[in-house]
Amino acid sequence: MTDLRKLLAVGPGTVDLGEIDPASTPGVPDGRSVRRHPKRWSRDKVASIGEELAAYQERLFASAKHDAQAPRVLLVLQAMDCGGKDGTVSAVTGGMNAAGMTVVSFGPPTEEERSHDFLWRIRRALPAGGQVGIFNRSHYEDVLVARVHQLVPEEVWAARYDEINAFEAEQVASGLTLVKVMLHISPGEQKKRLLDRLDDPTKQWKYNPGDLDERARWGEYQQAYADALSRCSTDVAPWYVVPADHKWYRNWAVVSLVRQALAEIDPQFPSPSFDVAAERARLLNAG
Ligand code: AMP
Ligand code: MG
Repeated sequence: MTDLRKLLAVGPGTVDLGEIDPASTPGVPDGRSVRRHPKRWSRDKVASIGEELAAYQERLFASAKHDAQAPRVLLVLQAMDCGGKDGTVSAVTGGMNAAGMTVVSFGPPTEEERSHDFLWRIRRALPAGGQVGIFNRSHYEDVLVARVHQLVPEEVWAARYDEINAFEAEQVASGLTLVKVMLHISPGEQKKRLLDRLDDPTKQWKYNPGDLDERARWGEYQQAYADALSRCSTDVAPWYVVPADHKWYRNWAVVSLVRQALAEIDPQFPSPSFDVAAERARLLNAG
């Protein structure tokens, strides 16, 4: 099987998002069923990978029972509006056990959060040992929206790339596996999805008039993304750019990346801390 990580990872050097086609589908196997029915193919794959995720997740959760330093996983999702973060959260969590999972969405910081360092609220939201966490937006907003809207002076946001790298390296050293994904959509696809939100009464709640102001700054955001991806894609915590104009591709790609992360951890059920045979005899003799 192709290693999707190799195909999607941001390598050393500068990322040129303009070179990555948001409608492309890297790593999809070449076969009749994919070509003829890509959505059905993806749905079936996502469901079967979901079962694998749940199995890994149970072992990860179990491994934390006697080990406070047990491994933990964090999927970080970043995207422009309508990039598909919510849909991706559903696809990844669909087959998983809610007890071993946390999903946290980050909006504008509250007054309390603003009174602390930008990583304060992030640290508090990290998954515990044995857990799989998902961040819907993240500390990267502090070098994206904060930069584009000049929420802080340049010297402040410019220093954050190094702070983020140091923070992530420290977390990885203490057992966190980071899967950082940018869902890459085209402005044309965003327009379609925004229109869809406006035209569908069941989706209007997702629309925010401010989305159009953000859309008007597309170029500035792409530049801010390119810098964040280039500066913060490290050996211990690489960034992946997932072309996301096709939802079926996006879902398959992201669940596959999460599966690869769990496969690499290869969590194991802990060995019992008691004498199984003795306990068995005790139970049977007790009548
Ligand atoms: P949504 O994801 O559509 O619910 O929107 C969340 C909003 O919160 C987006 O407009 C983000 O730009 C904004 N947001 C998230 N994190 C930050 C941050 N650290 N500083 C300022 N705005 C943020
Ligand atoms: Mg929004």
